Amino acid sequence: MSTKRFLNPEQIAAWQPMHNRPCTSDPTERLRQSLMNHNLWMPSQVAGRNFAMGCVSLEVTQRCNLDCSLCYLSDMAEAVHDLPLSEVFRRVDMIADQFGSGTNVQISGGDPTLRTTADLKLIVTRIAQHGMRPALFTNGIRATRSLLQELASVGLLDVAFHVDLTQQRKGFASEEALNQVRLDYIARAKGLGLRVLFNTTVYDGNVDEMPDLVRFFISHANDIHLASFQLQADTGRGIHRSVGEGVSQERMMRDIVDVTGLDLDFDMPLIGHPRCNRYTGVLVSDRHCTPLFDDHPLFVQIFASGAEKQALWHQNRALALLAMAMARPFLTFRALAWLARKAWALRSGLIRTGHVTKLSFFIHNFMNEDALEEDRCATCVFMVATQKGPMSMCVHNAKRDHYVLAPVRLAEGHVWDPLTGKQREDPHAVTCDDVSPERLPLKRLKGRWRAKHLGTRVRSKDAPDEP
Ligand code: SF4
Repeated sequence: MSTKRFLNPEQIAAWQPMHNRPCTSDPTERLRQSLMNHNLWMPSQVAGRNFAMGCVSLEVTQRCNLDCSLCYLSDMAEAVHDLPLSEVFRRVDMIADQFGSGTNVQISGGDPTLRTTADLKLIVTRIAQHGMRPALFTNGIRATRSLLQELASVGLLDVAFHVDLTQQRKGFASEEALNQVRLDYIARAKGLGLRVLFNTTVYDGNVDEMPDLVRFFISHANDIHLASFQLQADTGRGIHRSVGEGVSQERMMRDIVDVTGLDLDFDMPLIGHPRCNRYTGVLVSDRHCTPLFDDHPLFVQIFASGAEKQALWHQNRALALLAMAMARPFLTFRALAWLARKAWALRSGLIRTGHVTKLSFFIHNFMNEDALEEDRCATCVFMVATQKGPMSMCVHNAKRDHYVLAPVRLAEGHVWDPLTGKQREDPHAVTCDDVSPERLPLKRLKGRWRAKHLGTRVRSKDAPDEP
């Protein structure tokens, strides 16, 4: 694996979004090439093999109805108007063009539910029309059952609820108390055919509660598809800055291993760079778990055949599996033996409930904005759709204002100003150079600048001066 080399400020400033790929090329090729260049092209690597990009965040608003203490948004975010729908659609088309069907598109923000239901339905529809996978990323406050139902009816596949202590929800002083909110959100999505994901920011204020939270996710595995843990990073407008020493990929992996009591491998499959992403899956029956990917040769072959049958896989997974089984009978025998072992391991739960479900654990390790590792940025599998093309989320976070405050050229030839929400004909009439959170009214401030205005203590090495 490559060694750490950090981008300097000039390199960060010069880092560009991806340009359009030539329309004849294989969409997985670019990521595969980057992974090869950085010695990350192993048989267990699914990025660049089974998909062209892990996921792309489509930020449909910069506004949010919470003020998380570890928010990645810009200090200026609340002053930014929502992107015109025509520009959102253009970015959806750009994602499809760059990465192809099957791409996971996160409808995010800010909180996307601050846009109208009509807008959200059109956005979901546009993503689904390209054969991509729309997911709503929300704090859940405005994600009512009827909204989820309407979005599911036009093609929404996943809903990811962000719930944790960084959100400072009133009346919830621990992650355990927040389980009440999680249960409410599970109930809202139940029966709608949506996969439910939970995002948890892990920081020094809740890291000790992670084992209990893992237990909670396992006990509700029937209703939860994926539990994603995002480690605290020093980036954005939030008031928590320095990363707690106890927060690490290793500790989070250890917690999951200890709670499940299993010998889990977090690099099977490998998703991009292991310092960015660690992933594992378990099968759960009546709270008993068994590892999902413990037969490496079997899964390496399944990933390889999956890559061959990618188009079919994105259309119909059952048919793709059948096609794989017919093409490789030996693989089928090995898979049946694996299945028998799993059934035996879960026999007591199976006898009691007759039910087995898959639960995935994902640990995402964003980088501090002043410590971007070149190889991780170059092999990034989590992009943001900017006006000029998809860009690594970590690099984007390090220079958000450059993108979210920039005037947007609309297809009609006009230029849209994010700070006024108005269109102009003269592209030079709008500039974001002279804007600053210092000049914003309190109602447009969140995070460290709001804390400064209110005289709250900010723990930062480079926070605005405290009064
Ligand atoms: S570079 Fe950042 S956004 Fe991209 S995969 Fe790594 S941690 Fe995630």
